[in-house]
Amino acid sequence: MTNPALHSPPAALAEIETRIAAAARETGRDPASVHLIAVTKTFGAEDIRPVLEAGHRLFGENRVQEAKSKWPELRTLYPGLTLHLIGPLQSNKAREAVELFDAIHTIDRPKIAKAIADELARQGKRLQLFIQVNTGEEPQKAGIAPKDTADFLAHCRTLGLEIAGLMCIPPVEEDPAVHFAFLAKLAGDLGLSELSMGMSSDFETAAQFGATYVRVGSAIFGSR
Ligand SMILES: *Cc1c(COP(=O)(O)O)cnc(C)c1O
Repeated sequence: MTNPALHSPPAALAEIETRIAAAARETGRDPASVHLIAVTKTFGAEDIRPVLEAGHRLFGENRVQEAKSKWPELRTLYPGLTLHLIGPLQSNKAREAVELFDAIHTIDRPKIAKAIADELARQGKRLQLFIQVNTGEEPQKAGIAPKDTADFLAHCRTLGLEIAGLMCIPPVEEDPAVHFAFLAKLAGDLGLSELSMGMSSDFETAAQFGATYVRVGSAIFGSR
């Protein structure tokens, strides 16, 4: 691992793009099929701007309120950017989430699915949506249980939600490759093409196992 503290965020991001592309090629994948979400939680506009200036346009935040405090202004300054919600969502924040974000990775229970479906209809918007799967079946962690994913996907569709793919956050103490392979298999079985997986410590592994979105924060911006 390169020490991100020695790099500027744009340089770190460029290096990560190169490593993702190499990992994708190693497994015969098109590097363009792996999208790098730069995760900006806890970082302010002054940290984010150099990366925007360098041309990056795909970002992730894990809290609605925090995103609201920095992204509307950045959006007006840097056209064409795409913002993904990667953190847990409360149904009372669904309205703001649909207003602020272009994608949500954390659909994981009927109440959230319903709240998002209602807001998409009300606001006349389409977002890219992912179901979060608790692949490690950790009781404290968000996400639908693997065995319930097919039924939950069907339920989302009855609400009119168009689900693009699956997302996971593997248990910290386990080999992420096992979880990435599992999520890729599950998505394949369900006919879903997008896979949100891989963070600073394992984005190359994720790219090798089929990630179409990797979510990288500290390796770009430094430790939080
Ligand atoms: C913070 C966060 C990331 C990025 O984590 P890093 O280890 O800083 O790369 C990815 N996914 C989710 C859901 C996060 O909350």
